[in-house]
Amino acid sequence: MLLKVKNEGDFLRQVLIAGNWKMNKLIDETEEFCREFLPLVEDISKVEVLICPVFTSLYPMQELFKGSKVKIGGQDAFWEPRGAYTGEISPAMLLDAGCSYVIIGHSERRQIIGESNVIVNRKIKAAMEAGLNPILCVGETLQERENQRALEVVKEQLTESLQDIDLGEKPLVVAYEPVWAIGTGVNASSDDAREMTGFIRKHLARLYNEEIAAATRILYGGSVKEDNIRDFLAEEDVDGALVGGASLKANSFARIIRAGEDG
Ligand code: PEP
Repeated sequence: MLLKVKNEGDFLRQVLIAGNWKMNKLIDETEEFCREFLPLVEDISKVEVLICPVFTSLYPMQELFKGSKVKIGGQDAFWEPRGAYTGEISPAMLLDAGCSYVIIGHSERRQIIGESNVIVNRKIKAAMEAGLNPILCVGETLQERENQRALEVVKEQLTESLQDIDLGEKPLVVAYEPVWAIGTGVNASSDDAREMTGFIRKHLARLYNEEIAAATRILYGGSVKEDNIRDFLAEEDVDGALVGGASLKANSFARIIRAGEDG
């Protein structure tokens, strides 16, 4: 059965469908998307909808989404609030542009820019302190999976990225994104997603406690499309999706969201 709102004990975990646009779309393309997208999702009430565009599109997007329930987020944020950090953007600046979420530790940043768990940890702390909801991305490479190291790698990413972070008051979203499934068209199987999201929740319970683990939303990401989203959302520990390529087209992203809404 596809659950729209996951209910575990006293905790409700609202399904979150988040779009990660990566380095795509100019401002006029963003505006075109928003005009097409809004009417397609205006009746969505159960699913939380989020789009993380490029920084230059944040402000125009928040203007166009005013009055709607669609939220916007950044794809990264630095750990310092301001200063001589050429090219960086602070959590407060994202809030100023209308963001409520920020993606931290996406595998493209880990692999291409070289972000470590230590950096990810500093960024999560800063985002939380500023009042942004971080989406912490974790996931193994193909080689790590083939070497039977997937669980160990994800465990280490979680433990080190969350070091000294109190989740008692501040909610966290974790996105499980196997690197080999991102942008490849090869999605993880539901079995793989079930095993890893269940493992993530158990590890959160070990790091914190059962209540915090039960309240934390865990997303699956990696080649999510309208024809596989239902399989992922049907998994007990999958509370939504982080969607790359398929979030760039208003129609396909709206159909993924509707699958969560109507499930
Ligand atoms: C992503 O970038 O987080 C992602 C999951 O991309 P895609 O859906 O294109 O695989």
